[in-house]
Amino acid sequence: MNKIPPFDASQQYQQIGDRLNKAALEVLASGQYIGGQTVSQFETEFANYIGSAIDSNFGIACNSGTDALYLAMRALDIGEGDEVITSPFTFFASAETISMTGAKPVFVDIEAHSFNMNIELIEAAITSRTKAIMPVHLFGRSADMTGLMAIAQKHNLYVIEDCAQATGATFDGQKVGNIGDVGCFSFYPTKNLGGCGDGGMMTTKNAEVANKLRILREHGSPKRYYHECIGMNSRLDALQAALLQVKLPYLDKWNAQRREISDRYTHLLKDANISHLVSPHHCSGSVWNQYTVCIGDGKRDYVQAQLREQNIITMIYYPLPLHLQSVYSNLGYKKGDFPVTEYICDRVLSLPMFPELSDEQQDRVVDTLKNILK
Ligand SMILES: *Cc1c(COP(=O)(O)O)cnc(C)c1O
Repeated sequence: MNKIPPFDASQQYQQIGDRLNKAALEVLASGQYIGGQTVSQFETEFANYIGSAIDSNFGIACNSGTDALYLAMRALDIGEGDEVITSPFTFFASAETISMTGAKPVFVDIEAHSFNMNIELIEAAITSRTKAIMPVHLFGRSADMTGLMAIAQKHNLYVIEDCAQATGATFDGQKVGNIGDVGCFSFYPTKNLGGCGDGGMMTTKNAEVANKLRILREHGSPKRYYHECIGMNSRLDALQAALLQVKLPYLDKWNAQRREISDRYTHLLKDANISHLVSPHHCSGSVWNQYTVCIGDGKRDYVQAQLREQNIITMIYYPLPLHLQSVYSNLGYKKGDFPVTEYICDRVLSLPMFPELSDEQQDRVVDTLKNILK
């Protein structure tokens, strides 16, 4: 049996390889490898995609989604003595970047049916030190931004959106990354808009914040060799910008294909012995970076191993919540603090999901899974 991978980055190259080759060769011949027109064009195109041309949205490219989060908080003057509220059920970078600024991550439990932060629990976590909330639009699905923005406004907090897994996702018709103060995106190859290496982007409607972000990503330097703050070297290569520029016009099509695949999974798995599926009515604007099911009774790892025997590769995002990571033992959390997150971490299994996944492949995943669960 052929292998069914969780994600297949080479498929996009098979579709549009000629265009990618041409764009890459143009950059190679141009001699302009850092900065320049290709990068600024891509920044404008991406900002227009997330906002709209009339919105005067700014796009500031950087080296990764991780850097985007870090730089966003630096631009908002978040640091030592501050607290930032985020989800314990996310990739480590969400909390790691809070710590990198010197601030303290404060976690809030998630809702089982959306895997995102439970808005009703946020207010209890706010203290006089809280500076910002960082919602994570996990697996492609937006957090409840209406509820979250209302809390942020009431308490005068910044909102930094972790959009790494949700490029193109919407909440109430509005693209994520265009709702809070800064939207942070990743172009890691497995994300919805994936480059051929590392890359990231920040979006904001605030011209002053945009300017700070540009300075911070380039050694705190508004003008070459003049430095007004401690920044870093976090630029998007011209080569990556050129490749992403080719890919951006295909993003909506690829996201629509992901949506079809997820609908088909939901339909085919209706009568499977799966303890819990994310309720589809919470997913209308999702771009399905992952399709994640929950398998109870302590059987998840067994099911994953059995699927692997049949050459079907699944992933566990994420096995250990952030509040229980050894590096954060100093934050004083303990097992039992976030029961929904801990319950979910023991059960989640992400099935193969990429726009080119064929019906035959999907049928094999579903049939094999159902057989194992029988
Ligand atoms: C991938 C990811 C990041 C980090 O992005 P990189 O480009 O890999 O640095 C941050 N947050 C979440 C939720 C992610 O999935």
